[in-house]
Amino acid sequence: MKTIYLDHAATTATDPKVLETMLPYFHEHYGNPSSIYSMSRVSKNVIENAREILANAIGAAPREIVFTSGGSESDNFAIKGVAQALRDKGNHIITSQIEHHAVLYTCKFLEKNGFTVTYLPVDHDGIVKLNELEKAITPQTILITVMHANNEIGAIQPIRQIGEIARKHGITFHTDAVQTFGHIPVNVDDLNVDLLSISGHKFYGPKGVGALYIRRGTKITPLIHGGDQEHRRRASTENVPGIIGMGKAVEIALTTMDSEAKRQIALRDEFIKTLLDTIPDTILNGHPVNRLPNNVNISFEGIEGESILLNLDMEGIAASTGSACSSSSLEPSHVLLSIGLTHEFAHGSVRFSLGRNTTKEELDYVAEILPGIIKKLRAMSPLYKK
Ligand SMILES: *Cc1c(COP(=O)(O)O)cnc(C)c1O
Repeated sequence: MKTIYLDHAATTATDPKVLETMLPYFHEHYGNPSSIYSMSRVSKNVIENAREILANAIGAAPREIVFTSGGSESDNFAIKGVAQALRDKGNHIITSQIEHHAVLYTCKFLEKNGFTVTYLPVDHDGIVKLNELEKAITPQTILITVMHANNEIGAIQPIRQIGEIARKHGITFHTDAVQTFGHIPVNVDDLNVDLLSISGHKFYGPKGVGALYIRRGTKITPLIHGGDQEHRRRASTENVPGIIGMGKAVEIALTTMDSEAKRQIALRDEFIKTLLDTIPDTILNGHPVNRLPNNVNISFEGIEGESILLNLDMEGIAASTGSACSSSSLEPSHVLLSIGLTHEFAHGSVRFSLGRNTTKEELDYVAEILPGIIKKLRAMSPLYKK
């Protein structure tokens, strides 16, 4: 049975052209970029080329890009690095209630180490309340970190406006753009950000590689100490194949982004409408318009998202309940609770995330079998009383 893969927000397949670009750098051009013989210069040059591609893609200078091991490291580096560098200036950090765990748990960690953190609420559509942000700022505030778009419900945040507020108060501003980069336009000047996290495997690049954009002049302490790599901002021998692969993935994303976003929005909206029309007691989570082109997050009242996923899996369909990280816990997602869902709706949520290879036929098939699955599960559910 061919899998219908609708979990692109969790990860994407490495594009074959990306893989092809990477392969020679495992066994042919394997020199350590820090060495001085010519084999190493090849590695060094291709890394710098990838850095330029990535920098150009977000409107940055190559010097402002640090390669990392992925989105989680970029988030940790940004938040711990700024907190450490500015701890004499203040100890207050502002974030939102709906961040990815890479941001949320980093903030929780800092709370145990002398920092205080404000977790901004969001409205029913999952958008951060800007008036709450203004109110939260104190003379102690050193960092604001709010994600560009949410990985579970797809809500796109008013990053540009948040950046304006941050700048007015002289506060460093970080955004986790892991879900948006490669999918919708991301420009560090348009967004008014000082730091921005990127992850390769969310846009058809390889896993285990990412980047942190650090605006020139931003004070930040390294997370990983050791060698002089990345201008002494991140030690460790560079992941040469990964970095080259991510560079190639950026090139491909830039040429396909606009048409793909349009195509996915059309598929997404039709799929949402069909599900809401054909299945009773069902709601869409997240903002109806201000959302990632590929994100569909639906709550089915009175049943467990996990049971829906298992039934879909038997039909060869891969989806997720909100976030892959929370699939193993029984608590409903922190994001769904933050937008005000009752436990009955929060537990019954499924995220379908579309990708480049997703077809209308695949979505039609899911929409055809889903009503039967929901009906069957509800008939067995003591929580569903209709
Ligand atoms: C996937 C994801 C991350 C983590 O990225 P990794 O490269 O898997 O560490 C961080 N933030 C968001 C919003 C994500 O979707």
